[in-house]
Amino acid sequence: MRIILIGPPGAGKGTQCQRLVEYLDVPHLSTGEMLRAAIRAGTPEGVAAKDFMEHGHLVPDTVVLAMVTKRLESPDCRIGCLLDGFPRTLPQAEMLDELLERRAMTVDGVVELAVPREELIRRMLARKRADDNPEVFSKRIASFENQTAPLLDYYSRQGKLATVDGLGDADEIFGRVRTAVEKFAKRPGRGGSR
Ligand code: ADP
Repeated sequence: MRIILIGPPGAGKGTQCQRLVEYLDVPHLSTGEMLRAAIRAGTPEGVAAKDFMEHGHLVPDTVVLAMVTKRLESPDCRIGCLLDGFPRTLPQAEMLDELLERRAMTVDGVVELAVPREELIRRMLARKRADDNPEVFSKRIASFENQTAPLLDYYSRQGKLATVDGLGDADEIFGRVRTAVEKFAKRPGRGGSR
């Protein structure tokens, strides 16, 4: 299956993705991770991305898209994948659809992890990461609300969106995620991959 997990920064996407890749037994494609690895390795993509990331801005679509395209074309992704942190803008979503269509592939479903803003801020204050200082974090929330939230509408119109309550403990939330994914699997007309 080819699934997208969408959620604002601090929603617990990382934890749920880990469980979901194990459950689905597909590769985990996290653009945040790919970008951080590219920065560590000093690749041209990493060099292009570094400044944007450090300031809480999105990396340009072209940079991210080149990375994802390469990854989606590797043989292990033929059975499906979990997309985490991508697509993050409407153009990225449209480009992903085109890219998959040309390869007779499709997105089977999109899970939105919904968490209220006040809770995201509370969680951010309780953890520590380089791009997690309050100012950068607010920018990441703003870019989610302005640039990523419109995707929910895009996928909802395609009948592919399942919104999951992201409050509660991780097991409980994963139960909801799994239920959503099981429904995608039963949907008529879904792509041929598992
Ligand atoms: P989070 O989901 O907590 O925001 P990620 O690890 O997914 O964290 O992303 C970290 C940063 O990497 C983002 O704030 C952004 O700068 C960059 N990034 C990741 N994925 C994308 C993408 N699809 N498009 C543009 N920028 C991205």
